[in-house]
Amino acid sequence: MTTTKTPVAVITGASSGIGAATSRALHERGYHVVLLARRTGRIDALAAELGDRATAISADVTDRTSLVSAAERVNSELGGADVLVNNAGVMLLGPFSSEQRDDYRQMIEVNLLGAITAAEVFLDQLKSSGNADIVNISSVAGRTARSGNGVYAATKWGINGWSEALRQELLPSVRVTLIEPGVVATELPTHITHADTNTAVNELYSHAQVSAGDIAEVIAFVITRPRHLAINEILLRPAGQA
Ligand code: NDP
Repeated sequence: MTTTKTPVAVITGASSGIGAATSRALHERGYHVVLLARRTGRIDALAAELGDRATAISADVTDRTSLVSAAERVNSELGGADVLVNNAGVMLLGPFSSEQRDDYRQMIEVNLLGAITAAEVFLDQLKSSGNADIVNISSVAGRTARSGNGVYAATKWGINGWSEALRQELLPSVRVTLIEPGVVATELPTHITHADTNTAVNELYSHAQVSAGDIAEVIAFVITRPRHLAINEILLRPAGQA
């Protein structure tokens, strides 16, 4: 008798927002979901709520060692990853200034280098799967830079360029998809350190119409397409966003 492996989806930044919603959506579709984030209490609670086929592993995407040990557990306990959702991110907006230099480093290390590191750490597992997906969460800011979002946009433009090269290198056994959302109601803007920008962006987000669950449904749609079809890129905005 042959046993079929339960497909395994690793989601970074699974403790809130789009990552938590994606974990729920993929779990619903039969994946074993592996929840990675730094806030262990949150991912433990989500894994407990989901029950079977959910594993929480504390990992910081800026710490390669923590990603390597997460990947070792995924390999030994679950037989390797079939999906990697590179979702972890921070959006520390504000006018360009040396006072925000720590924010710039953090955004580059989490949004860009964190995604690249997670992908290279899980690459062998994804290649061995034969039917794998990498989903990179970019942003409208990966297409259109605006005053006040320069370094955030730089990280997302970086994701877009890297993602396209990776897509060409890994096809067809690993599909690479870029998702570029507009405003989505999550806690993302609450971490902005520049006071005036924090107030203005949180006010904008308090009227957000698109939920994390809306984006999770799109991600679930993308990775459940038949293997002969690859959705390369999706740009999606709230219907009222210019
Ligand atoms: P949230 O703030 O709700 O989620 C961000 C997630 O990133 C958290 O789970 C957080 O987990 C994780 N994270 C942050 N730093 C690290 C780190 N060093 N290591 C591991 N995980 C980390 O925001 P969203 O859900 O909105 O954001 C998810 C992604 O979606 C981001 O890449 C964001 O840029 C992108 N996006 C969001 C949009 C929006 O309007 N909300 C629009 C376009 C793109 P923890 O703190 O527990 O580690």
